[in-house]
Amino acid sequence: MEIFKTKSALEAFLKPLKASKKKIALVPTMGALHNGHISLIELAKTYADIIVCSIFVNPTQFTDPKDLEKYPRPIEHDLAMLNEAGCSGVFMPNIAEMYPQGADENWHIDLGKAEFLLEGEFRKGHYQGVTQIVKKLFDAVEPDVAMFGQKDFQQVLMIKNMLAYFHLPIKIITCPIIREDDGLAMSSRNIHLSPVDRENSLVLSKSLQYVTDHFNEFSLDELEEKAKRFYQGIEGVELDYFTIVNGDTLEKAKSKNENSLVALVAAKVGATRLIDNMIIK
Ligand code: AMP
Repeated sequence: MEIFKTKSALEAFLKPLKASKKKIALVPTMGALHNGHISLIELAKTYADIIVCSIFVNPTQFTDPKDLEKYPRPIEHDLAMLNEAGCSGVFMPNIAEMYPQGADENWHIDLGKAEFLLEGEFRKGHYQGVTQIVKKLFDAVEPDVAMFGQKDFQQVLMIKNMLAYFHLPIKIITCPIIREDDGLAMSSRNIHLSPVDRENSLVLSKSLQYVTDHFNEFSLDELEEKAKRFYQGIEGVELDYFTIVNGDTLEKAKSKNENSLVALVAAKVGATRLIDNMIIK
């Protein structure tokens, strides 16, 4: 497995591979890897010959400087996991490499109305930062295919909108959510959960599973209401939103007949903000 810290070294590695018509997959991450990330690498292997994983904690997508500061960075562990998974190359640039003019460089694109819903409401400017860095990674790698997790459901939609905005010919693959045995969606942030938080964190997957399992029994409003009740009286858990939306627009679902329905949740568990979702249909 090759490690690259600069775009030029990465491009030099990829050039002959592209010339010999190898298919390239990009798996963008912020590191602190877990089996969810590794599942993206595994799935990438079914689409491409060469898998490039990027590890970059992108400052422009963090709204809370403390969140950025405390983001875990276990790089040796990450490299060992990627090597084991059969990743071809790791791109781990520093901030100056990705933002030569500084992280406050100008960036604003139209991502549609959905940018401002859900996470966009709680993390202002988050998806501008996400699309800014992903565009830079796409430019550096020029992959045939890029892998993203359904765990960040809204992010996938924003990436697709960014792709349409720039007319980029990259195939986006959405990978299923990998969970711990008890249902908690794997996340780099789970490391911050205390034992009590860890127990409490199960309310996210349990409430989502309830809505999925009882979808035919209640109205949309009743389902949301019942899901929200899961959070009442759990000390140290603060619900930001639990909502059932149209999966294409992220607008609150008006009818069960809509083509695509997704239940999404965000909650603070102790000091850690977690998100999760389940596709109902
Ligand atoms: P992150 O390092 O958190 O930015 O995540 C990098 C990629 O891994 C994103 O596309 C995430 O959606 C995806 N991902 C994170 N957690 C999971 C999970 N539990 N299952 C599947 N994919 C995930």
